[in-house]
Parts: sequence; structure tokens; C-alpha cells
Amino acid sequence: MLELKGKKVLVVGLGKSGLAAALFLRRRGAHVTVSDVRSAEALAKDIPALLDEGIMVETGGHGLLTFRRQDLIVVSPGVPLNTPELAQVKSFGLPVIGELELAARFLKGRTLAITGSNGKTTTTALVGEILGKAGIPTLVGGNIGVPVVGLIDQSTDETWSVLEVSSFQLETTERFHPSIAVILNITPDHLDRHGSFENYARAKERIFAAQDEHDCVVLNADNARAAEAAARSAAKVYWFSIEHPVEQGAWVEDGFVVYRPASDASVKSIMPLRGIPLKGAHNVENVLAAVCAARLADVPAEVIRQAIEGFQAVEHRLEYVATINGVEYYNDSKATNVDATAKAVASFLSGIHLILGGKDKGSDYTQLAQLLRARVRAVYTIGSAAAKIESQLRGIVSILSCETLENAVSAAASAARPGEVVLLAPACSSFDQFENYEQRGRVFKELVSERRGWKVWQNG
Ligand code: ADP
Repeated sequence: MLELKGKKVLVVGLGKSGLAAALFLRRRGAHVTVSDVRSAEALAKDIPALLDEGIMVETGGHGLLTFRRQDLIVVSPGVPLNTPELAQVKSFGLPVIGELELAARFLKGRTLAITGSNGKTTTTALVGEILGKAGIPTLVGGNIGVPVVGLIDQSTDETWSVLEVSSFQLETTERFHPSIAVILNITPDHLDRHGSFENYARAKERIFAAQDEHDCVVLNADNARAAEAAARSAAKVYWFSIEHPVEQGAWVEDGFVVYRPASDASVKSIMPLRGIPLKGAHNVENVLAAVCAARLADVPAEVIRQAIEGFQAVEHRLEYVATINGVEYYNDSKATNVDATAKAVASFLSGIHLILGGKDKGSDYTQLAQLLRARVRAVYTIGSAAAKIESQLRGIVSILSCETLENAVSAAASAARPGEVVLLAPACSSFDQFENYEQRGRVFKELVSERRGWKVWQNG
């Protein structure tokens, strides 16, 4: 176990996991400093708690000396590893790890980790629910809810920690060792940060880097880049596919989700497809991945079926909002990349009024062209990516430049006819006009509810 008592540790980046890491390190007896480029005003709400614990706080930039007087650096997932100060200390041989790696050194019990470009939160929540229903002592965390260090105190030799892990967290892992690892899909995202698709895909593959032949990895047979990862895994490989049977794993057959534990074992029916309460083929993929993971954790098929049937869409993931004048409204504010938007559009046959835009992440929107032509009546653009989207999709679909979400909802609602759908699935991040995708989704739901004259949504 990592010895922290008396060690000098610097936490770079004061996000949710940076804050949790700093407090954890301090409780374990380390001398902790936190450094963030944001101003003291921007970080005001977290600073008092840190100072009260005797943690030093540097704001408004990183001093090089702050980085040099340390035994260990814990970097937050939001901080690029090529930040000059980090690159320099790495070259001096100072250990630089992330919060996930820090937590992995202390977490007891077994770990089931889920990554992918899309579907992580949905699948993590679903697997957590299935394991919990099976009576397994289950902790759920990572990108979803509680940072992983926050699970350490509750973990025991009997617990399963079900973790949502991102490429940014995986970039700084060394010994992180899940018994079961899941890669849902690898499609272009975060190219602005990782530099290339291949770098990004390699970061995702780190989920199984420490695994051996006693462990399992679950891969999507229908996603070329995820499937390719099998060649580099030392673990037992299980597959899922919505298109065809697999050697061992889960697939769809005659309207049923089925599972086969080994190539020479018999095929077991888990549940009918119509029992899945989530919309869209992408959610069938998430269910198949969850079925594999849960079977590998020894959950009985019947418990898996019941848990899936009772599961509800996570907020902002193709979430049904309301039907007004025969028009359905869906909030998929979490569709922050092109693939998630494609999956959302593919979940409806036609008559879609699609709100696109926000902050561009270097994406190629022409990938949507075919789906838009077939299913979308009009696109309503918002945010700073609007000009790029409009230039890439001109001539493919009718486009209305709306600038704000408010204008877009209003224009889409006026144009939509009964039986059609207004869909917020923007393919961009939200940071140009909103605090985050959650706020964007909430504003959308407010705007929709105002059109009806009563609140359809309430959340704390
Ligand atoms: P993540 O945590 O990976 O961002 P979420 O479950 O929060 O995943 O979903 C993110 C977005 O991707 C949402 O718009 C959701 O509707 C869509 N989505 C969910 N599952 C998948 C999948 N398997 N493939 C593609 N898109 C998906």
C-alpha cells in the first residue's frame, strides 16, 4: 500500500475528485497542497474546507517551485498531462498519478470498471442496480456520483466497486486492476485533449492493462475499435453484439437477450427485448454489456431480468420530458459527441426537430448527414459551434440558426406537428453557454414545461 504519512503531495486541479483526493490524502497524514489555475473567487466554495484541514491552496496558476518540493503528484482528470509544469516534473521522475490510481491502491474488495465513449453512466448505474438487487454489497462511483477515493472507507473484502471510468482517468493509471473491465464502444471524442483517435483509444485500453488471465474483459463486437482491443488483453474476453451471436457473452436472438458463458455451453435466455424500459438500440447494447458483467459477477439471470425491467433512464440521457400538442420532447443533453447524437436520432423513425450545437470539440458533423437526411425535418443550431455545423450540413437538411436554446425550443415547438419529436441531442459540450450539460438539460426541460404552463420537472 502507498505510504502517505508525512509525505508531501500536490493535488493539481480542484474539481470534485481533486477535492476528494486532497481531503483523503490529508486524513492519511500527508502534507497536502492543492494547485489550480482558476482564481480564488472561482474556487471560493471549496477553499475554507481545505484550509480548515491544514491543506495549502495555490490559485490563479501553478508555481514551478510548488511542483518541485513534492513526493507525489495527484492530477485531476480535467488537467491535461502536457501542462508544462506536469511534463517537467514527470521528466524529473516524480510520480504523477490520478485520483483513480490513488484510490485503487487503497480500495478493498473487487472492482468492476466500465469505460467507453458513450453509455458509461447508464451502464454503470444499471450494473450497480443489478448487483445491489442480487444482495451483493455494492459501491457505485467514479465519474458517476462519488469520486473513487470516497468509496475507500466503506469498501471491505466482500464489496464490489462498480466504477465509471473515463479516458482522462485511465491515462494516469498504473496498478488499477478491475476483475471485470467493460469497454462499451470507442468512437471519436475528446480529440481536442488526446490529440488523435488512436491516443484516445489507447487510453481506454488502459482499463485492462493490469489484468491477467484470471480477470475478464467485456468488449463490444459491433464496434471495430473496441473489438480490436481484444488482441492486446491478457484477460478472458467476453463479447456482446446486437448484430450476431458471439462465442461467449451476450447477444440478441429472436427478440430475446441471450447469454452463453462459454463457447461449448448452452445458450440461456435472459429476457425479452420488449422488457427493456430504455429507448434506442444503443441502450440494448448497454443492457447486453450489463448482462455480461453481471453474469461474470455470478448474478442469477432472474435477478438481472428484474433489475433491468425496473431501471429508469438516467436524467439527461434520452430522457422523456413531455408530450405537448401531440409533440414529444426528449432531453439528451448528455449527447455531447457526434456518436451519441447519431444514436439518439436513430432512436426515432422520422419527424425529428433536432437541436444541435454548443462548444465544438473538433468534431466532424458530416458523419450525421445520412441519418439527418432520413429522419430529421429540421436542425436548430445554438452556441459557438453553430457556424461550423451549418457549413458542414448545408444542403443536407433544413437548418435554422437560433443562437440560444430558448429560441431553438420556441422555433422547434412552432414547427413540429403532432406525432413529431423535438430532441435536444446537441453533439457538443455545453460550456460556451451553460455551466455544464446538466444545466443545459434542466433549462431545456424548463423551457418545455413553460410551453405547457405547468412544471413537468422538479429536481433539487
Ligand atoms: P457516458 O457516461 O459515457 O457519457 P451516458 O450513459 O451518460 O454515457 O450517455 C451519454 C450519451 O450517450 C447520452 O446522450 C446517451 O443517450 C448516449 N448513449 C448511451 N449509451 C450509448 C451507447 N451504448 N452508444 C452510443 N450512445 C450512447
